[in-house]
Amino acid sequence: MGLTRAARIILVGAPGVGKGTQTERLIRKYPQLSSISSGDLLRDNVRKKSPLGIKAEGIMKAGNLLPDTVMLRLITNELKVRGWMENVMPLTLNSSSIAVEQPEEDISADFETSGLTSDDPSASFILDGFPRTASQASQIDKNIDINWVVSLKTPPSIIIDRICNRWVHAPSGRVYNTTFSPPQVEGKDDVTGEPLSRRADDDPDTWKTRLQKFEETSLSLLEHYDKKGVLWSVNGNSSNEITPQLVKEFERRFS
Ligand code: AMP
Repeated sequence: MGLTRAARIILVGAPGVGKGTQTERLIRKYPQLSSISSGDLLRDNVRKKSPLGIKAEGIMKAGNLLPDTVMLRLITNELKVRGWMENVMPLTLNSSSIAVEQPEEDISADFETSGLTSDDPSASFILDGFPRTASQASQIDKNIDINWVVSLKTPPSIIIDRICNRWVHAPSGRVYNTTFSPPQVEGKDDVTGEPLSRRADDDPDTWKTRLQKFEETSLSLLEHYDKKGVLWSVNGNSSNEITPQLVKEFERRFS
């Protein structure tokens, strides 16, 4: 089914709520959609041992957030690489943010965080995990006109149970759950047959820190988008309960 307008979507939810699963399902149903997961981009850097990855690894393991400027450049760069952001301007080298001790030069040295997202339905995307704070949201407002923000709600006690059963295919970000959506062959990715692994941040104590961070930052993030009239919330104890509600509302808005 085709989209009638560009969808620029953010999924907001506690760590482990199933943002990745919902994203994957929407994309499978609507191939015009694509996704950018800030966590996956960072994990990719960690795996490749890039300078950003080396710096991010400790912060992520501790369940803390990376600095806004780093995230902003990482995402803007990705949007441009994919051709979803127009009016690219060259990097202003005397930008004051360069002076801050952060690895900007390692992630997007050729790009400035300027430009506008395309309105063509083919430039439709889901941002997973970014923006995560009201501050990140205000900073992207002028470049990325987010037109749907989905708040995914599942009780934390249910999420922690699920996290203990979560396995991922690191190169693609595909997520499996040994109870709800097991791989066809135990321990192997369905598409490539490569081994699955646990995410380093799927440790219960790390998860609790991440949940606390989420609770601290998400309220003002959701308020930011509520004021813009683009917030929509959905409740469910499992991804399977949430998906049909999400798809119905997506279709009402974009197809
Ligand atoms: P996620 O897979 O979205 O849960 O992200 C994993 C980790 O990456 C987070 O716990 C943060 O350390 C980092 N991270 C991802 N997205 C952001 C963001 N928008 N701002 C700051 N840190 C982020």
